[in-house]
Amino acid sequence: MEKKRILTGDRPTGKAHLGHWVGSIQNRVKLQEKFDCSFIIADLHVLTTKPQKEHVLEVRENAKQMVLDYLACGIDPSKVTIFLQSKISAVYELNLFFEMMVSLPRLTGLPSLKEMARNAHIPEESLPFGLVGYPVLQSADILLPKAHVVPVGKDNEAHVELARDVARRFNMYYGEVFPMPEVLLTETPTLVGTDNMGKMSKSAGNCIFLSDDEKTVTKRVNSMYTDPNRISADVPGTVEGNPVFIYHDLFNEDKEEVKLLKQRYEAGTVGDVEVKKALARALNDFLTPFRERRKQFEGEKGLIEQIIYEGTLKMEEIGQATLREVKSAMGISGTWNKISRIARERQEHAL
Ligand code: ATP
Ligand code: MG
Repeated sequence: MEKKRILTGDRPTGKAHLGHWVGSIQNRVKLQEKFDCSFIIADLHVLTTKPQKEHVLEVRENAKQMVLDYLACGIDPSKVTIFLQSKISAVYELNLFFEMMVSLPRLTGLPSLKEMARNAHIPEESLPFGLVGYPVLQSADILLPKAHVVPVGKDNEAHVELARDVARRFNMYYGEVFPMPEVLLTETPTLVGTDNMGKMSKSAGNCIFLSDDEKTVTKRVNSMYTDPNRISADVPGTVEGNPVFIYHDLFNEDKEEVKLLKQRYEAGTVGDVEVKKALARALNDFLTPFRERRKQFEGEKGLIEQIIYEGTLKMEEIGQATLREVKSAMGISGTWNKISRIARERQEHAL
């Protein structure tokens, strides 16, 4: 039986962080065994908030770092297709067709648009057309390989819903071409940032990166936001929604320690310093094997480039096949076929 297809990915705007791991990458590691997985290095999406040349030039290095992070997390390149979006010509064309399937208010009403604009320091009155259209391009990414499942973080849930709307409308106009993609969230669909100001996000600068060294992790943890009402260690604190304890719950293997720290925090018998010290240790324990694997892959010259190259060639073929089907369903290829046939006949006649 043919495997179901998955499409997901990341913007190559930097290295992977803990939010990527809990929100998406850990799911991908599991799913690669059973699904036909494609992971997009979404460099065209970088243009939506960072169109300047200096950012375009950063894509190459960021993409490399990101794929290194994937491998270090346990993603197996022999099982998945990792590809560079900007080299897939079909995605540009599909994006244009899909622009006709969505209304403007549907796009501007998406809360993720506001969050992205805020993180990128773009005022509402200067929203680029391309940023508003980001989810349409994402629909093209998802539907190009006719993905059935899209494992993403909570911030992207509404975008997958939009891709379903696009697929539904396309199928209604032109016949059944696309399956309805389903979103797949993890148990922690959103990881809060170290500043507790919303989700951990590269552009918000509130991240702990999977590749951070021990010292950096400790520094980041020490600067973390906790309970703002707690001015000293003897004041009972709140555990619920406190980012330090959210991270403890997710990354500290020593569940007994977490339980005790929580009890003492609520009783006002432990200081932030001790709680953070335990968290830094737990996070470093969690990240150590990852760092070791990353170093190993880093030493293999040309490996990442080869993985991206092969994946991109494969996706280009898949994309062209979908595009042929799309154009044929729309009747676009029929018009062209007729024009070119008549033109050829006329030419032959003249000879
Ligand atoms: P940028 O700031 O450049 O948008 P980002 O940190 O938001 O970067 P993306 O590349 O946009 O990361 O997201 C990649 C994937 O990781 C998406 O599926 C997204 O939903 C998920 N993800 C990103 N941040 C988090 C988070 N804090 N918690 C859970 N999932 C996340
Ligand atoms: Mg993002």
